[in-house]
Amino acid sequence: DLLVVGSANADLVIGVERRPGAGETVLGSDLAVHPGGKGANQAVAAARLGARTALLARVGDDGHGRLLLDSQRAAGVDTVGVLVGGAPTGVALITVDPSGDNSIVVSPGANGRLTPGDVRAAVSLFHASRVVSTQLEIPLETVVEVVRSLSPDSRFVLNPSPPRPLPTEVLAACDPLIVNEHEAKVILGDACVSDAPEDWARLLLAKGPRSVVVTLGAEGSLVASSAEVSRVASVKVDAVDTTGAGDAFTAALAFRLGAGAGLAEAAAYASRVGAVAVTRKGAQDSFPTAEEVEAL
Ligand code: ADP
Repeated sequence: DLLVVGSANADLVIGVERRPGAGETVLGSDLAVHPGGKGANQAVAAARLGARTALLARVGDDGHGRLLLDSQRAAGVDTVGVLVGGAPTGVALITVDPSGDNSIVVSPGANGRLTPGDVRAAVSLFHASRVVSTQLEIPLETVVEVVRSLSPDSRFVLNPSPPRPLPTEVLAACDPLIVNEHEAKVILGDACVSDAPEDWARLLLAKGPRSVVVTLGAEGSLVASSAEVSRVASVKVDAVDTTGAGDAFTAALAFRLGAGAGLAEAAAYASRVGAVAVTRKGAQDSFPTAEEVEAL
């Protein structure tokens, strides 16, 4: 069983001809409101694949919070760990121009109030989970408490997004640490002395994780453990919208690891899930069922 600890946001999206400058007002399209946030996305992606999934998160006592709870439940996620109140639901204000470039302002809201105490109070969810998956859209001290709350036989998966330097205690627990190119460079900082993703994987491993996965978009991914690095091919598809691809990939990988797959095998499955996700618009709307992955 999978436990996702992380963020839940309402994505408020408006299409614009061009983005406004300081002091300027522009008119845009009708507002679209989508459930999002990396934690919520991962939980929905895993549940849709058939994983027994629970989400530990915090939303506001407001309409956006109810939208997020509804989308989790519709996907079959156990929402007993979704706490309500303390601040408004996290929001991402997104403007998209005709070329598809976006500008985003995030208000973390309730995500910033998911505390170490909330993690300690959810101990029964940790006991029930073989794999615990987290990202960095919640306070770092909360992520540290997640690591401290792991059952001895459960596995910790971290996608450090948005990236920031991580304490050794968190890095050492990762199995795997899952990064894209940008995240790899931020986590490595001055240690990033090479342009080769194979080198990033080795350098990241040297920072303490038990294993590392580097995702490379259409180029597939790399898996690395005990200094052995191997390539996992991507699936060739016509990409329409890459939003949520990383969340789908991470969720699928965590699901397969929990089912006993090896890292390379799990990454190959996750590549197929990511590939389906990029052929469809949106984040949660783009995540496939197991049957759709099979049909690819
Ligand atoms: P992120 O969204 O975090 O930046 P990536 O862009 O690396 O992550 O995508 C995650 C995974 O999704 C990739 O490793 C790959 O398996 C799949 N993927 C992403 N973009 C494509 C694409 N254009 N074609 C096929 N697979 C893709």
